[in-house]
Amino acid sequence: MTTATRTVWDDLVGQRPTIEVLQQAAAGQGMTHAWLITGPPGSGRSNVARAFATALQCELRTGCGACEACRLGMAGSHPDITWVKSETSVLYVDDMRGLVQSAAKFPSIGRWQVVVIEDADRLGTPENPRTGNALLKAIEEPTPKTLWLLCAPTVRDVLPTIRSRCRTLTLNTPGTEDVARFLASHDGISETVASFAARASQGHIGRARALALDEETRSRRREVVSIPARLTSLGSCMTAATNLAELAKEETEAITADAEKRELGELQAIFGSERKDLASRSYRAALSGLEKLQKQKAKRRVLDVIDRALMDLVSVYRDAIALSVCAPGMMVNEELRGDVATLARAATPDELLRMIDAIFTAREQMLEFNVPPQLALESMTVALRLPGGRP
Ligand SMILES: [Zn+2]
Repeated sequence: MTTATRTVWDDLVGQRPTIEVLQQAAAGQGMTHAWLITGPPGSGRSNVARAFATALQCELRTGCGACEACRLGMAGSHPDITWVKSETSVLYVDDMRGLVQSAAKFPSIGRWQVVVIEDADRLGTPENPRTGNALLKAIEEPTPKTLWLLCAPTVRDVLPTIRSRCRTLTLNTPGTEDVARFLASHDGISETVASFAARASQGHIGRARALALDEETRSRRREVVSIPARLTSLGSCMTAATNLAELAKEETEAITADAEKRELGELQAIFGSERKDLASRSYRAALSGLEKLQKQKAKRRVLDVIDRALMDLVSVYRDAIALSVCAPGMMVNEELRGDVATLARAATPDELLRMIDAIFTAREQMLEFNVPPQLALESMTVALRLPGGRP
C-alpha cells in the first residue's frame, strides 16, 4: 500500500465497529453535535477523534486521506479543528469560556467547527463543575456548525450533565494480534519483536510502539518485570522500591526534558534574551509560573509512569496464576517463563491474588491519596515478599 492511498482510518487498531459508525456519521447519517469517545488508555481515543474530525472536513466526506482537508486534519493543522489538551489535572473555566466563544464561529474553510477535548474527565466533578458548566451551555444550545468531540477513559469519568447530552462510543482494548499486525505494517517491526511488544503492552498502542522501537524502554520494562522473583528478603524489597522509583524518574526525565527546554526557550523569546530583560521582575514572575506548571506536569508524569510499571508487575503475577491453574494461551511475559514459574512455585494462587491486591493498594495510595511514591512502593514490595523467604 502506498502512502497516498491510506485513508484516515487505516492506522486505527482493532476498532472496526466504532469506525463504521463514524464513517456513516461523516457521510451524513446519524450525525449529532456532541460525541463522547471512551476507551482504556492506549486504545487510541485521540487517534479515533483525529480521524473522525478529519473525515468530517474531508472533501469527499469519507476521510479519503488524499484531499487537502484530510492532509491538514491528519497533520493537526486544519484551521477548523481545535485540540484541547491538558497537562494538568483540571481544565480551567476561563479557558473553557474562551473556547466556547471561538467554537461558535463559522468554519473558515471546512464544513464544521470541530473542537476535540482530549481529557473530558478533567472538566470537573459534580462538586466542582464550573468548567463543565461553561461547556454544558454550548452543548445544550448548539450552534449549527459546531461539533464537540470529547474523549475520556470511561463514561463515569465525565460529568453526568455533559455525558447525558453526548452520543457515546466505546473503544475496545485492541487485541494482541491487531497490535502486532499494526506494528509490522506501520513501523516495519519484525514478527518476534512485534509479538513481544503487543503482548507486553497489553493492548496499549503507544506503549507497544515504544517497546518495539526503543531499546531503553524495553530494558526499563525488563528491570520492572524481573522484580517479583527477586523479592525474597526485606532488604531486597527496599532495594526494589528504590529502583522502581528511580526507573520512573528516569523515564519521566526522558519524556519531559525536551519539552521543558523548549518551553523555557519560548518564554525567553517573549521577553528578549538580554541580561536586563531576564532580570526584570515580570520575567522572573513568568519564569516562576512556568516552573510551577512544569513541576505539576512532571509530578503527574511520574505517577503515570509508575502506574504503568505497576500494571507491568500485575501482569507477572497474573501470568503466575495462569501457570498455576494451567490456563491455556500465551503469557504476557512469555520471555520470563522461568521467573513466572518461580513465583508459581513460591506462592499459591490465593497468595498471588493478594499480591495483586497489594499493587492496586499502592496505586490507590499514590493516585488518590497523594502518598509519596517511595513510601507506597516500599509497603507494596514488602507485601510482595515471597512467602517463607523462598525460593
Ligand atoms: Zn479527504
